Amino acid sequence: MNKLTQAESAGTGTQDASTPTKKQSAIFPSYGRYDISLVKGKGSWVWDDKGNKYLDFTCGLAVTSLGHAPEKVGAKLKEQIDTLWHVSNLFHIPAQEKVATLLTDNSCADQVFFCNSGAEANEAAIKLARRYHQKVKGTGRYEVITFEQSFHGRTLATLTATGQQKVKEGFLPLPAGFKTVPLHDLPALEAAISENTAAIMLEMVLAEGGVLEVEPEFLNAVSELCKKHGLLLIIDEVQTGMGRTGKLFAYQHYGIEPDIFTLAKGIASGFPAGAMLGKGYLREAFTPGSHATTFGGTPLATAVMAATIETMLEDELPQRAAVMGEYLKGLLKEKLADSSFVLDIRGKGLLVGIECQSPVGDIVLAGQKQGLLFVTAGPNVIRLLPNLYVSKEEVDQAVDILSELIHTYAKKESGEASS
Ligand SMILES: *Cc1c(COP(=O)(O)O)cnc(C)c1O
Repeated sequence: MNKLTQAESAGTGTQDASTPTKKQSAIFPSYGRYDISLVKGKGSWVWDDKGNKYLDFTCGLAVTSLGHAPEKVGAKLKEQIDTLWHVSNLFHIPAQEKVATLLTDNSCADQVFFCNSGAEANEAAIKLARRYHQKVKGTGRYEVITFEQSFHGRTLATLTATGQQKVKEGFLPLPAGFKTVPLHDLPALEAAISENTAAIMLEMVLAEGGVLEVEPEFLNAVSELCKKHGLLLIIDEVQTGMGRTGKLFAYQHYGIEPDIFTLAKGIASGFPAGAMLGKGYLREAFTPGSHATTFGGTPLATAVMAATIETMLEDELPQRAAVMGEYLKGLLKEKLADSSFVLDIRGKGLLVGIECQSPVGDIVLAGQKQGLLFVTAGPNVIRLLPNLYVSKEEVDQAVDILSELIHTYAKKESGEASS
């Protein structure tokens, strides 16, 4: 059937304004994209199709934490390409055991479920929490409490868990079983807990939500509430995990332990992979056949994950992220101390936010013209996500560009405001 007859049989008949023309991309326009096509990367740098070079403080959204095309990981990937790609989870996959051991030896978790993305890892966490309460504890609990400004993914369950209205628009009805309360509002959290509550889920630093760190006292209170009411504590480490904040997992900065935590972004240097980790007592909840995904932990994905995690541990990248993060924040504070346009400079490790007085989208575009790539976290916050090997010289270079851009932009803004 050709396209015209397809449209006719669907009852549309004539071409309307939304019918694709030859000039339009064949990709759904669900992403707002910058006008740059990147074609090559090495370490902290990427190149576009016109040969322009950029210092990359985006890292594909906190993914390429070892820098672009890391050699050790690339060598393992090439080796695995000539060996075995995929067999399915009908069979044992030795590299899965190896990665699971690496992750559990270095965290409070005892069990791992492999998947392909952050949303899927959180979906698995929500499913595990429900199934534990319903099948192991026999309580029938199902509800998950999350926080405003959080981000947990784009599947129907995880966008419902997400505390941002914009990701939910047009997707009704949303699945039942979620409640969202304001962050750091303990009375609201306590009031939201009912006999149906199964878990509380949160990020240690709300990354997409504006690089907002959870206050330690609040986190302690959440952990205590979970113990008191028999709730599972789920920590979404999709962005904060894998060394980004200065510890392998961000919860390790605080004196608490989650029952479940989730990983994706930085776990495999850009190869799509995710993981959901849990304590040993949750094991019986995921009996054979209860949860699955075809591509979870393939030989190819686990080879890349193993090489990524081993490199992170050998090169002590979490510690490096802590040191370079302090250096980056210190330098930003020094260079932007005199700017009333900048309201706050914050973050943990190499997840850094600069909160400004007004929207920063134009600063991101101006940065691209100067050869520096970075992103936003909500309208008014600049988010910096360099790779964990980033050098002092590269940080100096980025801060020079950024502070000049911010000063220029702030002057322009205040000029416009007073004229
Ligand atoms: C990116 C992100 C997700 C979603 O991960 P995807 O791989 O895009 O599905 C979930 N939670 C947090 C905290 C994230 O930053």
